[in-house]
Amino acid sequence: LEAKEEFSHKTLAMDVMRPRRSDPPLTVLTQDSMAVEDAEALVAETTYSGYPVVVSRESQRLVGFVLRRDLIISIETARKKQDGIVSTSIIYFTDHSPPLPPSSPSSLKLRNILDLSPFTVTDQTPMEIVVDIFRKLGLRQVLVTHNGKLLGIITKKDVLKHIAQMANQDPDSILFN
Ligand code: ADP
Repeated sequence: LEAKEEFSHKTLAMDVMRPRRSDPPLTVLTQDSMAVEDAEALVAETTYSGYPVVVSRESQRLVGFVLRRDLIISIETARKKQDGIVSTSIIYFTDHSPPLPPSSPSSLKLRNILDLSPFTVTDQTPMEIVVDIFRKLGLRQVLVTHNGKLLGIITKKDVLKHIAQMANQDPDSILFN
């Protein structure tokens, strides 16, 4: 009985991941439908270290993960050095450029900065296991999925805060000691 009770109170990945139920949705990039200016706006409006890349907002199928700094540098470099790259150029992370109307500006391939196999766990994974994975693999973040769809993200700092909460300690004391 006791063991069962303990199990039912186990914290799961879905309890720790962001966004929380009341938060706005995860900030993502789409694989071949965002313009340079859309990505620039997203980087300007958020401070996240990285962004999951999905097939489309409707599908939420995970394609990979892009680091903020790589995205910023690649766009800046392309704007300066690559002919035809303008605000309305479409960014694509796929192998080939998506079909676009003939009048469209050159598109920008950013596949080289895409991590194609970011670590993922399902929303039902117990946090004990997530903590173990972070420790053993030295991860910066894991993505959380349900039935193959992207649901959320857990960063190293989220894990540290969770551990601190479990230990009933001030989170700062764990983070900075
Ligand atoms: P850190 O957790 O080290 O501060 P971030 O700045 O990337 O790293 O993340 C800050 C918070 O926002 C974390 O709680 C994380 O779970 C969440 N987060 C990270 N990336 C995203 C994203 N792309 N969309 C929404 N929330 C995110």
